[in-house]
Amino acid sequence: MQDIRLGDVTISAILEHQKLGLTPEQLFLGSDAETARRHYAEMEPFLYDAETGRIVLAFQSFLIRTPKNIIMVDTCNGADKLKDKIVWDTRPWLDRFHQLGLTFADVDFVLCTHLHIDHTGWNTRLEQGRWVPTFPNATYLFQKREYVYWQRAAETGAKPPRHQDDIWQINCLPVAEAGQAELVEGAHEVDAYVSLLPTPGHSPGHYCVHIHSGGLEAIALGDLAHHMLQCREPGWSTPFCWDPEMAARSRMKLLSEAVQSRALLLPTHFPAPTAGRVTADGERFRYHFHEA
Ligand SMILES: [Zn+2]
Repeated sequence: MQDIRLGDVTISAILEHQKLGLTPEQLFLGSDAETARRHYAEMEPFLYDAETGRIVLAFQSFLIRTPKNIIMVDTCNGADKLKDKIVWDTRPWLDRFHQLGLTFADVDFVLCTHLHIDHTGWNTRLEQGRWVPTFPNATYLFQKREYVYWQRAAETGAKPPRHQDDIWQINCLPVAEAGQAELVEGAHEVDAYVSLLPTPGHSPGHYCVHIHSGGLEAIALGDLAHHMLQCREPGWSTPFCWDPEMAARSRMKLLSEAVQSRALLLPTHFPAPTAGRVTADGERFRYHFHEA
């Protein structure tokens, strides 16, 4: 994604990697291959693998530079995490971050839309065998409901099915122990340009990030939608969702509001050019990539 200028704010994507995910029938509850194929036929071909039907998934952070703060939204999978299970190259993310002219010390806030592994990885890094916050001067804002849910799961061992072990312990706890975690509730305002927009369902305290400047709006979506198919079929949630029906309601509500506001949407897992806007099509939505 090219850098986007929104009034006085600049938004940049930091891509970690991109891969083929599951097929729609595997990923979306209540979906079927036939319906997915019909929607695919109207979509850009880089969004799916024509041969297998698997979706293309990007993993990326968004860096928001306002006149006041440098704000990192979601921190991908990171380095040295669950080493034996998932292997990826960490250089593209690091290179892109440094290309933006930044050091870790420059980041003022880290926002995690939710606390799944692919949104919290660079929260911490290994330093001499210890997990330390990657961004030494940043305040990390966690939705209290989300944080407490994963903390409890970690402490009681009651891990929700389909979620990896130790994410909270290695991606969140070291931040809290360093005194850099702030637990917030609801539509928290980060600065005059950026605020949190609660959109629960995918996880208990999932939020989107609302950005506004010069009469323009953008919204970083986190996992409100994993694929453009969910604009055509907003009722399709995933088995990874904490409450699939609530996730669908949050998706429907936010996309309906984005039709009215013409907000530019930044969905984490949509491949480049990523950003786009939605228009209404009855109860469904059409996603149109933003022309840079
Ligand atoms: Zn995700």
